[in-house]
Amino acid sequence: MSDLEAFREEVRAFLEEHAPKSLRGTSPCGPFDGYWGGKKHPPVDPDVLRWRDVCYERGFTAPTWPREYGGAGLSRKHAAILWEEMRAMGLPRPVVGFGFAMIGPTLLEYGSEELKREHLPKIARGEIRWCQGYSEPGAGSDLANVQMRAERDGDHFILNGQKIWTSHADKSDWIFCLVRTNSSAKKQQGITFILVDMETPGVTPRKIDLISGSSPFCETFFENVRVPVRNVVGEIDKGWTVGKALLAHERANIGSSIGRMPGSGQRELVDRARRHLAWSEGKIEDAVLREQIAELGMIEEAFQLTLDRVAQKAQSGNPGSESSILKVVATELKQRRYELGQAIGGLQSLGWEGPGFDADDLAFTREWLRSRANTIEGGSSEIQRNIIAKQVLGLPEVK
Ligand SMILES: Cc1cc2nc3c(=O)[nH]c(=O)nc-3n(C[C@H](O)[C@H](O)[C@H](O)COP(=O)(O)OP(=O)(O)OC[C@H]3O[C@@H](n4cnc5c(N)ncnc54)[C@H](O)[C@@H]3O)c2cc1C
Repeated sequence: MSDLEAFREEVRAFLEEHAPKSLRGTSPCGPFDGYWGGKKHPPVDPDVLRWRDVCYERGFTAPTWPREYGGAGLSRKHAAILWEEMRAMGLPRPVVGFGFAMIGPTLLEYGSEELKREHLPKIARGEIRWCQGYSEPGAGSDLANVQMRAERDGDHFILNGQKIWTSHADKSDWIFCLVRTNSSAKKQQGITFILVDMETPGVTPRKIDLISGSSPFCETFFENVRVPVRNVVGEIDKGWTVGKALLAHERANIGSSIGRMPGSGQRELVDRARRHLAWSEGKIEDAVLREQIAELGMIEEAFQLTLDRVAQKAQSGNPGSESSILKVVATELKQRRYELGQAIGGLQSLGWEGPGFDADDLAFTREWLRSRANTIEGGSSEIQRNIIAKQVLGLPEVK
């Protein structure tokens, strides 16, 4: 038996013994599906915490991280097996969120030893939840235009400015930010990547309400916020490189989580077609919709295989600019899937509330609308295409 086969057996035995029965079959096991942890988390089912603890003991909350930082020191191939087996049992990852998907791997690449030892074990234990302070009112796609100022005062920086679209800032304990430390340099060269405790005086997250009534968004204001210089990740004024590396992790994780979201795949669309469309002789009568479902099913299947290959083969820690491909394909496939689901459900797919719509219909409408945001968050599809053209394909810029 090969080492990987032996590891698979070991994982199966571990899951069989320790995975709470109540959590089996409940989750697609993606990097954003499950318990987000942090000090502000409302009370959860004790099984969720038991699951987190038993996995943390084995280093399985962050399996590829070195043991000294709370991981299991596994190779990516071994970690891929762990997630595959959890997925096969429908188990959620034990703890999820931006700590694992973004700042953790970035700290491993660029953080000082002190920062790694301070933050990584807390992420791995689910103690600290992180949010992302990148976007500003004048810096979205043009992220290098960030204006939030950080002025040096001895061993501290003093932060002043505003971030926007900070998802879940009100529920987070720490925020990672891109700040302007040099206004006279070329804009990419005067940015610093810094970690800020949300409890620091002067940090104020404010909820942004959306018409849907449910919103992850906050604006986050910084007024004379004193942050130790030792919280800088990488070098002062060189945060653009660190910030881009983090985005590659974010995009790869969006790609893999959306590529495997519930509701994905041909089976769900066929189930939907059973509820809403006419069938004859075991087939959907509408030949056009039938063909579109089959085609999307094949593309999604191929994409799943690509995700598996990427997860197993990636050698270096950072997924690089190619992560933009995963992000574009996954998010646009998801939108296509929901458009098709909508065509299948007709008016039943447009319900927002009231009689005449069941829980599935209402959930569908919300997910369909949410899918519109997937091609914006983490950088819009237009920006991803620019990155793919320039960084991956090396195409010349059109002047
Ligand atoms: C659900 C969700 C969660 C988010 N969470 C966070 C978060 O936690 N933290 C955070 O910092 N940010 C977050 N964001 C913000 C997100 O990163 C920005 O919305 C995104 O980068 C786009 O910026 P913008 O909204 O300012 O749009 P703009 O930059 O104003 O773009 C508007 C339009 O112009 C297009 N465009 C702009 N420039 C170009 C160009 N050069 N070439 C071609 N087209 C272009 C864009 O593609 C877009 O269609 C979130 C966004 C969403 C939707």
